[in-house]
Amino acid sequence: MKHDIPRRAILTGSAALAAALAAPRASGAAAADPGPVRLLANENPYGPAESARQAMGDALYRGWRYASGEEGMLAELIARREGVGTDHVALAAGSSEVLRLAVIAYGRQGGRVVAARPTFSFLPRYAVRMGCDLDEVPLDSAMVHDLDAMAARVKEDTRLIYVCNPNNPTGTVLDAQRLRDFIAAVSSQAPVVVDEAYIDLTSDPLRDSMVDQVRSGKPVIISRTFSKIHGLAGLRVGYAIAPPAMIRRLKAMRVTMPNVVSLAAATASYRDEAFQRFSRRKIRQCQALVSGAFDELGVRYTPSVANFVLFDTGGSVDAFRQHMREHNMLVGRSYAPYATWCRVSMGTVEQMAEFALLAKAYFQSVGQQQRF
Ligand code: PLP
Repeated sequence: MKHDIPRRAILTGSAALAAALAAPRASGAAAADPGPVRLLANENPYGPAESARQAMGDALYRGWRYASGEEGMLAELIARREGVGTDHVALAAGSSEVLRLAVIAYGRQGGRVVAARPTFSFLPRYAVRMGCDLDEVPLDSAMVHDLDAMAARVKEDTRLIYVCNPNNPTGTVLDAQRLRDFIAAVSSQAPVVVDEAYIDLTSDPLRDSMVDQVRSGKPVIISRTFSKIHGLAGLRVGYAIAPPAMIRRLKAMRVTMPNVVSLAAATASYRDEAFQRFSRRKIRQCQALVSGAFDELGVRYTPSVANFVLFDTGGSVDAFRQHMREHNMLVGRSYAPYATWCRVSMGTVEQMAEFALLAKAYFQSVGQQQRF
């Protein structure tokens, strides 16, 4: 095939893209996004940070290079902040890639996986597709992982134990000491994967993170992501923190890698603590707005710390979703066994104010009157 696009046109195109990426956006303004309001995938519409947009613009011109230098630099930053060596860190194309790698590395010869129900289903479902059997343990009556019941399900042929903390879709956080005791009790039988996608949003991430368990050499894989507080979901960057032998095993199974542009964005955002504080503040503001509306209506909801909340529609989740869709808003779904509960992600403050108004209209029209 003949390539006859003039080189100047290509340069102009990439310069325009770089300029668009780096175009200043009023500080704190969410990106304009045509189409329905997305309150269904726990994204963060305040991202990417301006620092990340600038870094991506610059990185476009390094697109001809492999990204090993950028990868090493980000791994180094993460290792330093977490108090581990760089041999304890593996970058991946999103934290779902880390979860998948854990299954390939530890579950590809079959065996069993223990996980809560409901939880983020990516690892458990992938394990089943890889030939593992799944031991699902219902959340307790407070909608939190039932760690005693999970420990009781660990058997000789258990290959992985998955704990999502804070949990998706409930947003609930485990008591840190209870989780440490759980890891002490079960990790000699199988590696524990602790999914910390939302850990930056708890009231005390240092207390709640299980990185100290990795530091003390326990067979624990922590998965983290740039998709949530950093608002970089579309760029696909995540990482694992684990003991060096486990990191080597995960890395050996990688099939893909983040690229120069996404690594540049992640590195800039990781350094941009002001943006992280801003994101956290906005998410908390949205949570307060939504829970205030639910309190007023007597709608039950989970005490979520994350950028979503699960609430009881008291009836048909499909009817609630349809009502929202008619007003150009896409909300999440229900999660078995909570058939009448629906998950909604936090958008911008303005979007959540609109969500609250629409939810009020809906519940008033169906005469929903419940108390938590
Ligand atoms: N883990 C949890 C608990 C999630 O909720 C999500 C995404 O919603 C992920 C992992 C996947 O995130 P990533 O975009 O890093 O693949």
